[in-house]
Amino acid sequence: MPLGEFELIQRFFASAGACRDDVVLGVGDDAALVVPPPGVEIALAADAILEGVHFPAGLDAEAIGHRVLAVNLSDLAAMGAEPAWALLSLTLPRSDSAWLEGFTRGLDALARRSGIALVGGDTTSGPLAAVVSVAGLVPRGQALRRSGARPGDWIYVSGAPGEAAAGLAVLQGSLPRPAAAERLVSRFRLPEPRLALGNALRGVASACIDVSDGLAADLGKLCAASGVGARLEVASLPVSAALVEVAGADATRLCLAGGDDYELLFAVPGDRVGDLPELGVTLTRIGRVVAGAGVEIVGEVRGEGPLGGYDHFLKEGRTTTARGLGGPSQ
Ligand code: ADP
Ligand code: MG
Repeated sequence: MPLGEFELIQRFFASAGACRDDVVLGVGDDAALVVPPPGVEIALAADAILEGVHFPAGLDAEAIGHRVLAVNLSDLAAMGAEPAWALLSLTLPRSDSAWLEGFTRGLDALARRSGIALVGGDTTSGPLAAVVSVAGLVPRGQALRRSGARPGDWIYVSGAPGEAAAGLAVLQGSLPRPAAAERLVSRFRLPEPRLALGNALRGVASACIDVSDGLAADLGKLCAASGVGARLEVASLPVSAALVEVAGADATRLCLAGGDDYELLFAVPGDRVGDLPELGVTLTRIGRVVAGAGVEIVGEVRGEGPLGGYDHFLKEGRTTTARGLGGPSQ
């Protein structure tokens, strides 16, 4: 007997996520009730993940549960907000307890670790899709935005971008799977939202964005929002040894254009560089903000394909700048 909708919600979602004192009423009524502390702004974000669009059919349920929350927490991290409350809208082809156990395990572990409470949602039947909406708290006036970068600021990125896109290619069989590939696969399956980093960048970074569509594309968005340009040095990119081992000549291109990393990309004024936090995640200086518009990529990028990142309606990718993303090398 498959579980009915009510039993399913009770069993898998009624007590998932962190317990928070500011939740007056969670799962079970027509809406949740929460009480924000004084002096904060509430950061709101929602992201969907769909089978066949954001993840390949057959990806394990634990990874799907983790990812749908992680992509949302990453948006809070990019704003410098602290996670508080989440809603989950889940569409399932069937009520499959084993699948739901895996999904909840992934979602619940990350939610507890991040201090976010699951306060409600919606459950329907249909093609597999999950939508999470999150609310985070940030001291009034202190949120990080895309729009504050100024010419002369240094550009930094966390972690090793490109690994997640390579991990997806490994899962799909288009890249080989030596031992080094396991790290890349887990970067795709279980991305780590950079919450502590985002928090610590408040008052230090002048602008911030999370890398979901690709480093070059997301830098283009930060520049457009700030009304500036950027010079990005290919030789400075944090292309990891695992990425080079698995992707070979395409490693640099994946680092620039691969999506799904959920690293933070941010600008820092010269006099604040000494205040960058040491949190055990590598921060790499990859370029500089300049006057003007567009991202100039300085250095050689091997391999085929656009660097413009993913666009749901312009499927083949796009260039994000008036000058184009090729730079002198292309
Ligand atoms: P309604 O029909 O009034 O919208 P539902 O029957 O859809 O209520 O949901 C009942 C309760 O369960 C609500 O509190 C809702 O927020 C919660 N809920 C439903 N689906 C989920 C889910 N996937 N995760 C968390 N809470 C859920
Ligand atoms: Mg209702």
